[in-house]
Amino acid sequence: MAKYGTGVVSSYDKPHEFERRGATAKTVAEARREIDVIREVDVIVVGGGPGGIAAAVSAARGGAKTILLERYGHLGGMSTGGLVNIIPNLGSIFGEHLIGGFCQELIDRLAARDAASFPDKKDWGKGDAAVVEKYTKANMTHFYIRKNAEGESVVLYTAVIDPEVSKDEMNTMVLESGAELLLHTRVTEPIMEGDTVKGVVIESKSGRQALLGKVVIDCSGDGDLLPRTGTETTDYMVAGSRIAQFGWVYWICNVDLERYDAFTNTESERYNAVVAEITAEGGSAYFSRGLLDNQEGVVWVHRLVGSLHQTDIEEMTYIDTTTRRESVRNWELLKKHMPGFEKSFIMLSSPQLGTSGGRRIIGEYYLTEQDMDTDKPFDDTIAVFADNDRGDLSLQHPRTYIPYRSLIPKGVEGLLVACRAFSSDHEFQEFFNLIPHCMCFGQAAGAAAAIAVKDGVGVRDVDYGKLKAELLRHGAILG
Ligand SMILES: Cc1cc2nc3c(=O)[nH]c(=O)nc-3n(C[C@H](O)[C@H](O)[C@H](O)COP(=O)(O)OP(=O)(O)OC[C@H]3O[C@@H](n4cnc5c(N)ncnc54)[C@H](O)[C@@H]3O)c2cc1C
Repeated sequence: MAKYGTGVVSSYDKPHEFERRGATAKTVAEARREIDVIREVDVIVVGGGPGGIAAAVSAARGGAKTILLERYGHLGGMSTGGLVNIIPNLGSIFGEHLIGGFCQELIDRLAARDAASFPDKKDWGKGDAAVVEKYTKANMTHFYIRKNAEGESVVLYTAVIDPEVSKDEMNTMVLESGAELLLHTRVTEPIMEGDTVKGVVIESKSGRQALLGKVVIDCSGDGDLLPRTGTETTDYMVAGSRIAQFGWVYWICNVDLERYDAFTNTESERYNAVVAEITAEGGSAYFSRGLLDNQEGVVWVHRLVGSLHQTDIEEMTYIDTTTRRESVRNWELLKKHMPGFEKSFIMLSSPQLGTSGGRRIIGEYYLTEQDMDTDKPFDDTIAVFADNDRGDLSLQHPRTYIPYRSLIPKGVEGLLVACRAFSSDHEFQEFFNLIPHCMCFGQAAGAAAAIAVKDGVGVRDVDYGKLKAELLRHGAILG
């Protein structure tokens, strides 16, 4: 669980040790070659996760000729392919709605398709006992319930979305906006002219190709473009913190939860014995319940695995293979021992390994823990986040402001960063690199890129008045 109070918490999984082979002593020289330029556009968005879809839609709506490039065959990043489809902290402990704009529009569109669930607006910031019980029973209290100053449980505005419908809706939103979409396209490096990013190189089944653009927005989550731009980055994390974790998520379906509930309610001693047996055999009986309509028989298991090297392929492979083995074994133990799981099966494991922390920029403004306690808007505020996860400190400082400058890497022109690689230290990341946050970064970066192109200025010279007006026009809440 997250740590409240000062300092990053160290109660998560510690980094896993394994024997790493590393590189050999040899190198090879890559041959120079001419490659085809397949597009010349205004704005190139790299990565179609929460940050990328918002950036592409926002840039296209702002009138820029925009293309979105995604390595997988679906959009949504972690929010769909990572099976972490909970969009938390949309409002404060006091019931104030803080994240609107693209994020709210997506939730509204999904709700219209019965593909999102969230507490009624009348319950936000209030302590309705039935609502509290619903989320407690689902093991989702961390996302939905907080204590107010009087120590009473109150309900937060948090949404759960259906990942499959989301993939379709995200495609629709991007294409409707007028942005072009290329899936199955991995971006490998920026094209640099001095300190200016002029485009990107891609690798795909179609080979190695190039795209040129006036502004490139890195929404790859890990800032994949950054190392070759020369900008300053960090990947500092504290072992055992939330961001120092890989996530391996899977869904078990066909679970008879009525039978499970009857068992836990009426035979608590036997239940405790079953839990002890599963634990003794190396498993865990902990799971969360799906909260979408018609998901009654589905439970989620979020397995966190400590790591300080989340862009290292050897570590990613080690974590994926060992965690898959442990997870399937865990389900086998539930099926064998736990009433209700007899006919269950693993329906899906997340197609993409969950990364919580990778490299990030040290940009024009570097957000730190102090900014969580400042309570003052910036002159270039692009988003206001609900600070709900720091206990008493959150009650004192319920709003955290985000400046546009935290999306601008130092020493590079033509590049914005609108994903969890935004400019911030490990403490700030611990609380504010979630899906709704990245959607806000994306919406702001896309709007700013479109303005930069229209006005013929660099991204750091965008007129903030125009940016603010554009964000407000599309429903952003800026406080
Ligand atoms: C286990 C776990 C649980 C979490 N739970 C929650 C939660 O419940 N709620 C929440 O809000 N947040 C949660 N998070 C955090 C959240 O998922 C991420 O911080 C958020 O998704 C970051 O969004 P992003 O756009 O920066 O990156 P991502 O979601 O990682 O999206 C990046 C996208 O870029 C693509 N991409 C990457 N590199 C390239 C490349 N080189 N070329 C082309 N495409 C590329 C990826 O395929 C992906 O689609 C969780 C994280 C983990 C690991």
